[in-house]
Amino acid sequence: MNYPPVTIELPAWVQPLIAAKGTFFPSLEARMALVIELAARNVAEKTGGPFGAAVFSAQGQLIAPGVNLVTAANCSILHAEMMALALAQKVLGRFDLSDNGKLSYDLAASTEPCAMCFGAIPWSGVNRLLCGARDADARAIGFDEGAKLPDWQAALRARGITVIRDLMRPEAIATLQAYAAADGSIY
Ligand SMILES: [Zn+2]
Repeated sequence: MNYPPVTIELPAWVQPLIAAKGTFFPSLEARMALVIELAARNVAEKTGGPFGAAVFSAQGQLIAPGVNLVTAANCSILHAEMMALALAQKVLGRFDLSDNGKLSYDLAASTEPCAMCFGAIPWSGVNRLLCGARDADARAIGFDEGAKLPDWQAALRARGITVIRDLMRPEAIATLQAYAAADGSIY
């Protein structure tokens, strides 16, 4: 058997959206607003679940956006955070975004990470995690966040990663609920 390459591609609507918005997001709210918009648009365009993420430099330069592509790509690992991290690593040409602790990057996620993404974050080289909706908000509409440590934030902090929660949480929740109300598939 010749196994095919696994190719991950952002939906076609992402590039024009970013082109219209520019690539500099100085405030944490602006970074969160972008990933919430990615989540909402991903639902509207029917390219995946209601989750968006992005990697930014500490100053707010957008390095890579990500959206959930699980259903579109038939791939369970393609959560928005994984997509954004993989793309940022590709763009910057290194698996450790921090370049051995020399540089600082944020991962912004419209909803707090699931067990898989939580596990992936320490090896990505980001040193700050910005979250919108809480994982309980995703569970409330039926998404499975997996078996996470009860104090997952402390576990990240112990690895030198700052966690900032509840950024624009009401707006982030609204996107999750709009998806549920529209009978989106839950996985
Ligand atoms: Zn995840």
